[in-house]
Amino acid sequence: MNIQNYIYGRFIDPVSNEWIDNYNPSVGQVYGQTPNSGKEDVEKAFQAANKAFPSWSNTSIDERSRILLKIAQLITEKQSELAAAESKDNGKPLALATAIDIPRASANFRFFANAITQFASEAHESVGMDAMNFTLRQPLGVVGCISPWNLPLYLFTWKIAPALAAGNCVVAKPSEVTPMTAFLLGEICNRAGLPKGVLNIVHGLGTTTGQAIVAHPKIKAISFTGGTQTGAHIARVAAPMFKKLSLELGGKNPNIIFSDCDYENMLHTTVRSSFANQGQICLCGSRIFVERGIYQRFKVDFVEAVSKLKIGDPANPKTDIGALVSDQHLKKVTSYIANAHKYGGTVLFGGNNVQVEGLEHGYYLQPTIIEVQDNQCKLNQEEIFGPVVTIMPFDTEEEVLQMANDITYGLSATLWTNNLNRTMQMVKQIQAGIVWINTWLLRDLRTPFGGVKNSGVGREGGFEALRFFTEPKNICIKYQTSENGLTTKK
Ligand code: NAD
Repeated sequence: MNIQNYIYGRFIDPVSNEWIDNYNPSVGQVYGQTPNSGKEDVEKAFQAANKAFPSWSNTSIDERSRILLKIAQLITEKQSELAAAESKDNGKPLALATAIDIPRASANFRFFANAITQFASEAHESVGMDAMNFTLRQPLGVVGCISPWNLPLYLFTWKIAPALAAGNCVVAKPSEVTPMTAFLLGEICNRAGLPKGVLNIVHGLGTTTGQAIVAHPKIKAISFTGGTQTGAHIARVAAPMFKKLSLELGGKNPNIIFSDCDYENMLHTTVRSSFANQGQICLCGSRIFVERGIYQRFKVDFVEAVSKLKIGDPANPKTDIGALVSDQHLKKVTSYIANAHKYGGTVLFGGNNVQVEGLEHGYYLQPTIIEVQDNQCKLNQEEIFGPVVTIMPFDTEEEVLQMANDITYGLSATLWTNNLNRTMQMVKQIQAGIVWINTWLLRDLRTPFGGVKNSGVGREGGFEALRFFTEPKNICIKYQTSENGLTTKK
């Protein structure tokens, strides 16, 4: 199935007529073509958005909210079609796309449709100066949203929904690796009555389409989720134009397990936090540190639990681990495993490519557990972003805290303990944007989401996202007070 750009409510081919192959990773075959849009296409999308902006930014909050709720509802109605498309495009289990990706895409629109009705700005009375200040929060204009391939519609809508709710018009680009559900979203927006030009979706490579969005002088802000290197490049391009930037980047998150934890819950959740979505979630706990007292027990139980995971056809409801997203990504991940020994690691489980019957050319890899001796090794310092975790023991809180923080990334961390004092001391010192205690990936959309250090700048989620997509303007009103405090004289 071929994909087209969605500009001013219409589906159109790229000006250059350049196309990219779109792969189904579960079978390793091309199943469609995606536009590789250039500057001209991005300009068309910008013009459409710019034309729509005066009207959309003045559309009442109730009306904007109503349209976004309608989009949410239509996503839910089309859940099975969207989940099937997501699974085919990405290789993720259909069950996961059905339970997580698509419901969350709908929830993103529903959440921001409601959040905008509660969004308010501050007022500051300058007491003693006879002045009153209030803050106007106005939409920025045309903004750019660029998203990655691991949670395609989930992350695409996580940016678009708050941008639209706040009254902006959008030029958006999904990953060229997984463009299908973003394409399907265009039709949903038309059916929901989103006015033409409010959302425009251009497809293509990062270096052509993405670059054209970031470099466009009139696109006011860029909300980006993706790799750290790409984020650094985007920051370099956008900074001289003083664009507002939100960068959600890579992670290499510690999963810290103390012996006083609820062991069964920890074990079950750690299997998920290691390998959900084939380990291709920026929040996966890929560095597992286990207190020495339970290290041997954990090692045996973890290997046993992971060995039971079913790798196979993403469409099979019993599949736990589907295909990796692309051949290129599979090769990157397997190169870390092939060199594990050189990097000081010992493979305890997995490490091999898997031939799935009937799907022999798909990109399947066993979930892989590598024991390491030193947090400084490459396996612990670089983001692999696949079904690969490392494990190593620790003895003290001080030691594990030092290792958890001794990395360039700082996205999330998980802590397993029932000791409240330890929890409170550690959460203050862990360098991360999100810390989960005795759970993982429990998300409340009102909370700030983002990372520190090389994991990014800025926060998404709740009012943080609405603040990002609006410009605060201070209005200061000076007044005069007469002697009796009233304007009418006696
Ligand atoms: P990527 O950086 O290669 O691509 C992300 C998006 O940016 C894609 O749409 C791509 O086309 C575009 N892009 C690439 N080069 C560009 C350029 N020069 N200018 C503009 N756009 C460009 O990342 P990926 O491989 O798609 O995704 C995996 C990465 O995303 C991992 O590092 C992962 O940790 C990260 N990620 C982070 C979060 C988070 O919330 N922090 C969430 C999911 C994924």
